[in-house]
Amino acid sequence: MTGGAPFGRDLGPIAAADYRDLCTDCGISRTADPGRCGRACQFIRPDYEGLETAVHGRSRDPERGDELFFGPYRRMVRAALTRPRSGAQWTGITTTLAEKLLSDGTVDAVLTVRPDAEDRWRPVPVLVTNPADLAHCRGMRMGYAPLLALLEPALQAGYRRLAVIGIPCQVYALRALEKELGFDRLYVIGTPCSDNTTTERFHEFLALLSKSPDDIVYLEFRADYHVELRFTDGTVRTIPFLKLPISKLPPDFFPLTCRTCVDYTNVLADITVGYMGGNGKQWLLVRNERGEELIGLLGDDVTMSAPESRGNRRRSVAAFRDNVQRAAGGLPLRRMPDWLRPLMGWLMPKIGPRGLEFARSRVEMKAIESVIHLQREQPRRARHMLPSHVLALAGRYGLAMSPGDPADDGDD
Ligand SMILES: Cc1cc2nc3c(=O)[nH]c(=O)nc-3n(C[C@H](O)[C@H](O)[C@H](O)COP(=O)(O)OP(=O)(O)OC[C@H]3O[C@@H](n4cnc5c(N)ncnc54)[C@H](O)[C@@H]3O)c2cc1C
Ligand code: SF4
Ligand code: SF4
Repeated sequence: MTGGAPFGRDLGPIAAADYRDLCTDCGISRTADPGRCGRACQFIRPDYEGLETAVHGRSRDPERGDELFFGPYRRMVRAALTRPRSGAQWTGITTTLAEKLLSDGTVDAVLTVRPDAEDRWRPVPVLVTNPADLAHCRGMRMGYAPLLALLEPALQAGYRRLAVIGIPCQVYALRALEKELGFDRLYVIGTPCSDNTTTERFHEFLALLSKSPDDIVYLEFRADYHVELRFTDGTVRTIPFLKLPISKLPPDFFPLTCRTCVDYTNVLADITVGYMGGNGKQWLLVRNERGEELIGLLGDDVTMSAPESRGNRRRSVAAFRDNVQRAAGGLPLRRMPDWLRPLMGWLMPKIGPRGLEFARSRVEMKAIESVIHLQREQPRRARHMLPSHVLALAGRYGLAMSPGDPADDGDD
């Protein structure tokens, strides 16, 4: 399960985390002023409208393209590096952007995660100053890393121009504190994120997928409705979503944080690098001027095309809503009969939503999950935690804050 030798600048041990309810340990509770969590946390009282305006100059405009789903953006593209980087999750656009910022001297350091030396799936925060070291950070890991705990050590080390690669809950806290942190220049390269869990629990999932889980080196939920697994000996296996052993996972497999996270597409990043709207390629959302600067760094190293959109998501999202409601109410899920699964597994990539329609369906499903789970498990928080765009997306499927709910009791 080794993740390779450690590297990156050693800035001493990271402080222990204070206990927080609904927390993904982004690192702020480990800083000199853990009280900042109150104004920095996505799970307390997020202000997406205000932060979108501060970062991008305006908040999302539901009348503008797909902004209701994906947040403010200037343009969206399908993209692939002409020379895919070895070890990357897709073609390596994320780490290549950071590498270019470092090698041309635009930033002093890159804050990201690397694999733990003992467990390749465990993310460990690291400040990278040597561009070549970013090759060791490539790939996706499952779990939480206190990334932002290294912001203060970065400043103390004199790194005033910083690039951060982060997932949405980390980027929210970073943006909320950006002004008071006082970096001279900050580049934020975000990836989408969903359905994360602790590294320990993720190993349980791997054990259900293979008899040799320790040999799995890569896993991705692809936009063609298959999970791709790669093994240490170079073999590749794909499993249709419908055949995944999801029903064998315990109900608490995904923590409430990741079931109710309200920012799938990392709306506060300068550029979001994902795949779900890319129909087999990477999917970039360039959100502001700095995002344009970043994409410009790729030069001829990248091919780009317009995103596609096919199919109709409405029925599959409505069926998803019904299942989440049944499961949340303790009822058995409506499962497809076993005889139909191979046929549907073959058909879904052909008839299911593709490209941007697939991405819209994923964002709507996430909004539905957030509303149902939060209202059920933390109703008092729901009112403060659910931004208006999430309520608008879930509202299209008949979900609304229930009147008389403690979430709607008027107290502040
Ligand atoms: C838990 C998780 C769930 C995701 N779910 C989706 C999804 O549903 N849809 C989608 O479009 N994209 C999702 N992504 C992003 C996607 O997997 C790719 O990382 C992204 O498309 C970039 O690919 P790349 O080849 O450019 O990345 P690379 O060049 O390989 O770089 C990946 C970067 O991500 C960082 N990273 C890896 N794991 C973590 C982690 N656990 N926490 C913080 N940073 C990490 C690495 O350190 C590296 O800097 C998810 C990522 C994570 C971590
Ligand atoms: S700001 Fe970060 S550390 Fe603090 S409660 Fe939120 S996720 Fe946890
Ligand atoms: S799903 Fe949301 S809350 Fe969970 S790790 Fe990803 S960004 Fe954070």
